[in-house]
This record gives sequence, C-alpha cells and structure tokens, in this order.
Amino acid sequence: MVNDFIKIKCADCGNEQVTFSKAATTVTCNVCGATLVKPKGGKADIKGEVVEVYN
Ligand SMILES: [Zn+2]
Repeated sequence: MVNDFIKIKCADCGNEQVTFSKAATTVTCNVCGATLVKPKGGKADIKGEVVEVYN
C-alpha cells in the first residue's frame, strides 16, 4: 500500500498544510482549527481542497 501525503487547502481560511491521506485521526487546520480530514472506515474523508498529492 502506498503511503500518500497530500496538501490540503482549508476551505475556511485558505491555509495549506501537508498531511497523510489515510489519516487515522482527525486532522485540523493549524490556523483556524477547522476539520480537514476525518478518518472513515480505513479511508480518510477529506473536507478541504486537495491542492497537491505526493507519492
Ligand atoms: Zn483554516
């Protein structure tokens, strides 16, 4: 399985941050605290906009 890292743009404040695409825990925006990624049955439910994928 590929461990992908993605760059997500926060829908609320526009902050961009890099996170693991299959996050097992909720990832929140470092700036405003909005939820960016929510774990969902082994897959991540991405709330923000994915601007870049690293693999
Ligand atoms: Zn934000």
